Amino acid sequence: MSKVWRSMATLSNSLSLKHGLFLWSTQSCSLDKLSKRYLISSRSFRRSFSIAASTNFANENREVVIVGGGNSAGYAARTFVEHGMADGRLCIVCKEAYAPYERPTLTKGYLFPLDKKPARLPGFYTCVGSGGERQTPEWYKEKGIEMLYEDPVADIDIEKQTLMTHSGKLLKYGSLIIATGCTASRFPEKIGGNLPGVHYIRDVADADLLISSLEKARKVVVVGGGYIGMEVAAAASGWKLDTTIIFPGEHLLPRLFTPSLAQKYEELYQEHGVKFLKGASIKSLEAGFDGRVAAVKLENGSTIEADTIIIGIGAKPAVGPFEGVGLNKTVGGIQVDGQFRTSVPGIFAIGDVAAFPLKMYGRIARVEHVDHARRSAQHCVNALLTARTDAYDYLPYFYSRVFEYEGSPRKVWWQFFGDNVGETVEIGNFEPKIATFWIDSGKLKGVLVESGSPEEFQLLPKLAESQPFVDKAKLQAASSVEEALEVAHKSLPVESAA
Ligand SMILES: Cc1cc2nc3c(=O)[nH]c(=O)nc-3n(C[C@H](O)[C@H](O)[C@H](O)COP(=O)(O)OP(=O)(O)OC[C@H]3O[C@@H](n4cnc5c(N)ncnc54)[C@H](O)[C@@H]3O)c2cc1C
Repeated sequence: MSKVWRSMATLSNSLSLKHGLFLWSTQSCSLDKLSKRYLISSRSFRRSFSIAASTNFANENREVVIVGGGNSAGYAARTFVEHGMADGRLCIVCKEAYAPYERPTLTKGYLFPLDKKPARLPGFYTCVGSGGERQTPEWYKEKGIEMLYEDPVADIDIEKQTLMTHSGKLLKYGSLIIATGCTASRFPEKIGGNLPGVHYIRDVADADLLISSLEKARKVVVVGGGYIGMEVAAAASGWKLDTTIIFPGEHLLPRLFTPSLAQKYEELYQEHGVKFLKGASIKSLEAGFDGRVAAVKLENGSTIEADTIIIGIGAKPAVGPFEGVGLNKTVGGIQVDGQFRTSVPGIFAIGDVAAFPLKMYGRIARVEHVDHARRSAQHCVNALLTARTDAYDYLPYFYSRVFEYEGSPRKVWWQFFGDNVGETVEIGNFEPKIATFWIDSGKLKGVLVESGSPEEFQLLPKLAESQPFVDKAKLQAASSVEEALEVAHKSLPVESAA
């Protein structure tokens, strides 16, 4: 190595460390100023840096490394670009073979019957889900963002600020953002959880495998009555397949729906031909003569025939090699503060994997929803790159959309904002609207609306955020969802009602 290259390498490494320290320190000046001071030409700097250091580290861009190329990584990348801080500085390490995409599509448009224009990449790369630019792999190249595909991070050395990938590549970081999301919970292998024909759905590869099974399927069993179960069962019924949902609880989506609300959705599923087996515990998944799954055996001794089974029983935060960064024992995931900083300087966590302070309700939470993935990414990067010091103040927002394929007799789209605590008031007959209001100590805490208009959906976050005192009797007396929302709207303080 020539003298010039050696001194460039020393300068590069010290800069990278400075950035690491700078980036997590909210006391410091903005990165814009720093970059102007040191990085006169980031392109020429990058070229000399990579040549000098290529023998040591496999990544050229080392100021910030994002581990996990999913939903939140895509929105984080966009925010770096908006600040003019991506080019030559940002590296994203992906487990999957694809650039970040809008993951919710996988159980919605992606599973439409093949003759009903199913969604496929590049159609749903981030950030199309929020009306933003479609960030194709070329977009990352154009923006100078280094992408490493299909090589997950397997280990971290916090002291040396390095990562080791599965294939053995050594990566250096200045600041690190952990955005590894979740992995689907699985049935143990010994009860048939890995049999061919048994599916879990978390990424494009899983969805493609499921589609190849659906193409040959006759009898589908969906295990789990949560979001994934409800969405996959709706999709299977769109394929006109004999579909049964099995779950141990009493009704669909017990974490959010009231029994009465769940009943409306269950009736709708039944109209689409979906069968329900509630309160059922699964003993094992049984293989047929060809080694593929052939049946579900229940604890009560009964057996249900199935050639395709989709398990939707929840997910676990993908903390993998990052346990040493600081786990939260109550909700799982990696503990962060209101700016997504972990207890290790220079390391951040966002999206599903982050256990963050849910300021509104004074508790630590993990939220496995795309809206939080997007917002946490934006908040974290803004705090990292600017002098922003306000704490993340998230209002929980959940939604689902099903039966949306062309020709479907009834589309379903609900949105929920707030906290589902206290007593409930339900208004509407589900033809097509219905609304549930959660009231705690006289205050409106949460609200769910099915098939609302854009204006109605826009009102929901205002209601959940300001938590007005509502007249429960007036709400109960409303003869329609529109009227009930009007009652709630009028209970808002003047400044929030506008
Ligand atoms: C099928 C499905 C449907 C959904 N539908 C909805 C919905 O309708 N509404 C809603 O609000 N939310 C929905 N969600 C949840 C939403 O998609 C997630 O909250 C969101 O994707 C979280 O973003 P994330 O970046 O934290 O994680 P992810 O988007 O999961 O991305 C994490 C990425 O990190 C990668 N990774 C993991 N470990 C490593 C490692 N060691 N090294 C490198 N990479 C790694 C993973 O492979 C993945 O690509 C759905 C989720 C799924 C799976």
